[in-house]
Amino acid sequence: MPQTTIHEKLCELSQNLWWSWQPEVTSIFREIDPKRWSELSHNPLLLLREYDPDKLEVRAREEVLHSRINWAYRRWQEYMHSHSTWGDVHAGVLGHRPAAYFSAEFGLHESLRIYSGGLGVLAGDHLKSASDLGIPLVGVGLFYHEGYFSQVIDETGWQREEYTDVDPGTLPLKRVLGADGEPVIISVETRHGSIFARVWKLAVGRVPLYLLDTNIKRNSEEDRKLTARLYGGDQRTRIRQEIMLGIGGVRALAAVGINPRVLHMNEGHSAFAPLEIIRMRMKHDGLSFDDALRETAASGVFTTHTPVPAGHDRFDGGLIDEHVGPLAEELGIYHDGIMGLGRVDPQNPNESFCMTVLAFKTSRRANAVSNLHGVVSRRMWRSLWPWRSEEEIPIGHITNGVHVPTWLAAQMRVLYDRVLPQKWYLRTGEADVWKGIDKLTPGELWETHQSLKNRLLVYSRRRLTQQAERYGRSAKEIDRLQTFLDPQALTIGFARRFAPYKRADLVMRELDILEKLISDVTRPVQLIFAGKAHPADDHGKAILQRIVKMSHEPRFHGKIVFLEDYDINLARHLVQGVDVWLNNPRRPLEASGTSGQKVVLNGGLNLSILDGWWAEAFDGQNGFAIGTGQTHANQDVQDARDGDDLIKVLENEVIPLYYDRDHDDLPQEWIRRMKRSVRTLGWRFNADRQVMDYVRETYIPAAGSLSCEMVVMP
Ligand SMILES: *Cc1c(COP(=O)(O)O)cnc(C)c1O
Repeated sequence: MPQTTIHEKLCELSQNLWWSWQPEVTSIFREIDPKRWSELSHNPLLLLREYDPDKLEVRAREEVLHSRINWAYRRWQEYMHSHSTWGDVHAGVLGHRPAAYFSAEFGLHESLRIYSGGLGVLAGDHLKSASDLGIPLVGVGLFYHEGYFSQVIDETGWQREEYTDVDPGTLPLKRVLGADGEPVIISVETRHGSIFARVWKLAVGRVPLYLLDTNIKRNSEEDRKLTARLYGGDQRTRIRQEIMLGIGGVRALAAVGINPRVLHMNEGHSAFAPLEIIRMRMKHDGLSFDDALRETAASGVFTTHTPVPAGHDRFDGGLIDEHVGPLAEELGIYHDGIMGLGRVDPQNPNESFCMTVLAFKTSRRANAVSNLHGVVSRRMWRSLWPWRSEEEIPIGHITNGVHVPTWLAAQMRVLYDRVLPQKWYLRTGEADVWKGIDKLTPGELWETHQSLKNRLLVYSRRRLTQQAERYGRSAKEIDRLQTFLDPQALTIGFARRFAPYKRADLVMRELDILEKLISDVTRPVQLIFAGKAHPADDHGKAILQRIVKMSHEPRFHGKIVFLEDYDINLARHLVQGVDVWLNNPRRPLEASGTSGQKVVLNGGLNLSILDGWWAEAFDGQNGFAIGTGQTHANQDVQDARDGDDLIKVLENEVIPLYYDRDHDDLPQEWIRRMKRSVRTLGWRFNADRQVMDYVRETYIPAAGSLSCEMVVMP
């Protein structure tokens, strides 16, 4: 057999996203051409297009990459063929019928812009951990060829959205072929004809992700654009995307011969999926609707991800009839029956159709994404089970976590490799594994953190320069940017979607106090902001505008900066480099939050409202809490109090601790907190632990049991 050339090896590696969570492989791609790598948004397919085998051979020799490429390739093959994973041992009952993980967005890598925020990144991290653990799982989503928007801030500080059409040929997507060798096309009927979609397959390590795409000739012009944008369009677009995701998604799996053992719906977006499974069961197994519903629900797992009302899709009866009417007739339940499945009170004609309610009624197992969110969700949805007390509402919780190899800086990983047990990364869910962090000397941990922080600041200045060039700023102004952001200053990061409940401008309630804190010459503080508001969210955009304007005020120049176009790449730099990660949502609206967990891994400290994951993570010394977890019926009162508490904890705890230095200029107490944060939080808030919890608590029971108590509404 002819030897595989390094060109072939790199091409093969680039076709599976596994490379993206291997720092060694990522650095190979970067070193081939650092400048192009960054210009091509870290897309190895585009990079390799610029090299024929001979040219690559020369380049690899120049950079001495051969043995590293061979080594990476061998590791990849071992990974793909390994048969001694956690899943082989613990998830055997799932056997050859995988769990199907449905989500409207997947945040896997910056080159694949089919995510908007936390839900997507969580889904991406879930697939990666499932792959690492060897869980039989497949993902199902939509391919948005324009994706989520790119953010540009105009002269007035207002957000503008830009969309670029991405050619699927530039991504590691493969057309899915049917048994006949022809590309699979699935269709979903509406009252006014069918919508067709092709199916792409994306390899995420060992886990395949199937993405439906309506941009094909068979569709009308309107339907070709149906899956163009994530969270774009109106209610009609939304329901059409959702029948494609749910009903189309199940059909796509059937077309490739996958009959999932477990259906895991993330948010209500995919809640039409069980209806299609019920239809198939009725047709193929001759079940009645009631029996098919019961059995389908038994294998269903539903994760609700937000208590914010706008996060729960609602449709009126007309939209439901147009898009789900034909299916409802096949199911023999007709309009009233289908509407009843989406209403808390099936008989109430004034209630609109809610996708979350549909998901609850068609899956027996439901969970929230943190302990507190569980409490809130049980209260929020108690009317679905009026005969039960609040504690008995059948919604549990599995707290979110982050995928360690994706979010851990390579330099930190080197430290971990030295002090944690061998192959620690295969056992990140075990508390004992993380104890070794205490073996690091304060100096080496601090040095590593400083170097990551410097990298963030250099990167931030580069982004600011690019922004300034786009605005056509003068050379003098651009020069001045190089003096922005002081490596010695306490650096606070805040980056997330600009949903108003996240209160990005909370720290700016009292500008004079903020100015005093920031401008203290002996103990300076600086803030880096980033984040996108949803295109239709003018309130979120107004908050964003306020921050941009503050960053332009002379008194905050160079100390408050806003970096445009938040994405996974920017997130990675931020979470790896900040001293402090600020999170101040209006409790209890942050279901979990995950960005702070990424910071933990890299030695940053969280400064957060006791909401979401932080409410169960904070132990008094592994970060900082804003307030004591109180809420108030009056939102303004709550905001004012939280704003005061934030300033207080900065003034009295965070800043003094950071600047409390020993004779070597080391903040010993601070470093102790960094270690405590890693030791007490790393093992709990990572995606391996999360996926193992899902497997043990939901997938295995859902796969095995048909006889448990029903929680589906009578
Ligand atoms: C992690 C992450 C999020 C989620 O952040 P939250 O803390 O849940 O607000 C959003 N966007 C990106 C790009 C991320 O990496």
